[in-house]
Amino acid sequence: MKTTGARSLIVYVFSVAFAAGLLFFLGEYMINGGQWAVQPFNKHISQGTALTGKVLDRNGEVLAYSTEEGRFYHEDPSVRKAMLHSVGDTAGYISTSVQYSYRAELAGYNLFTGLGTPLGDRTAGNVTLTLDADLCKTAYEAMAGRKGAVLVCDYTTGEILCMVSTPSFDPQNPPEDLFTDETGKYEGVYLNNALSGTYTPGSIFKLVTTTAAIENIPDLDSRTFTCQGSQLINGNPITCTQVHGTQSFQDALGNSCNIAFGELAVELGNDTMMNTARSLGFGSSLSISGISTAKSHYDVEGASPDELAWSGIGQFTDQVNPAHMLSLMCAVASQGTSVEPSFVKSVSGGLGLNLPGMASKGNSYMSASTANRLQEYMRSNVRDYYGESWFPGLEVCAKTGTGEVGEGKQPTGWVVGFSSRADLPLAFAVVVEEGGYGSQSAVPVAGAVMQQAAALYK
Ligand SMILES: [Zn+2]
Repeated sequence: MKTTGARSLIVYVFSVAFAAGLLFFLGEYMINGGQWAVQPFNKHISQGTALTGKVLDRNGEVLAYSTEEGRFYHEDPSVRKAMLHSVGDTAGYISTSVQYSYRAELAGYNLFTGLGTPLGDRTAGNVTLTLDADLCKTAYEAMAGRKGAVLVCDYTTGEILCMVSTPSFDPQNPPEDLFTDETGKYEGVYLNNALSGTYTPGSIFKLVTTTAAIENIPDLDSRTFTCQGSQLINGNPITCTQVHGTQSFQDALGNSCNIAFGELAVELGNDTMMNTARSLGFGSSLSISGISTAKSHYDVEGASPDELAWSGIGQFTDQVNPAHMLSLMCAVASQGTSVEPSFVKSVSGGLGLNLPGMASKGNSYMSASTANRLQEYMRSNVRDYYGESWFPGLEVCAKTGTGEVGEGKQPTGWVVGFSSRADLPLAFAVVVEEGGYGSQSAVPVAGAVMQQAAALYK
């Protein structure tokens, strides 16, 4: 009896292990089967795994499609370049694109019959983006050959209307010097800067310092700050762009005064600055239509007072990701909580199912009262300091930035913001590498794109 008992136990253990293994495989198969089937190294079926479905923009404009001759892209070369990082290239180098991340759906894979069907031919799915191709083209052309990223989204739905990363190339006719160029014009061309890039923020980071100040300094609006153009902190000079004299907090933000914000960061302290940055999403990735963004970085652990001052001005080791900045602007525009941005509207599956894009969750960054005060300060920036000429009638709230990067390079130009008009719920983030002042490089790009986007809401 004893032997029989031991033998049944062994059989039992093996059966359970087998069942568990089978369940694990089925689970993996359900989740990853499509990706396995269309892996580029699956050579024996690579001819049959060609992308056959269409990629469309939010208005049904066909951005990519296939014929027996191969894969084709939109007829307008500027649209093709503007959409490259969202749509993708035929070789699959752009890993943040839908032709990469939705390649199973576009190749017509389904869970039950794989790449084949009982009737012999497969039905490829189509991917519809939330992007507006015309708007992306405008952004691409406004970048005028400079590197960077442009993002515009609807902050009530999270739908990204414009996402452009430069440099780019034409996926229909990839340039012959794409791999051999040594001038650096294609440097980072496979990267979607909007999702995967990080940059020195410069003064747009003063919005983070402002958030910490709103939440920790009760008499902020009755304070005055004195700027004489330079100020020693810890024996090291913090320099400003000019002599701003005595200012209120609102003036200091409007003037983007380094002295005021350096002093505020030191007063708030390392821990408060780090906790505020963390609660605003620094150190975390967003998932945008299933793609993880690069993390924004803020770390003043053990930093000296002068380093802390520069960190509050958006220098030191500060780095920010454009999509994260967009998400933060959505939150400031909507009571402190942002709907996670997305750029895939829907995917029609091979079985005729119409699936929505990846579900998005909200990011709660700050209280409604903090968001409302930030909004008022940012509205005053444009109305009283920058001027409305780039955004006529759009009631824009914004902050510009100029990130010093050293290495003999021109600074990184930034502008982030949103329209405060309820009938025009648009947020934006624009970064121009080596653009110089944000007010002269990024603001005109944001202005051109926002004015065109506003026309869509009439
Ligand atoms: Zn100043």
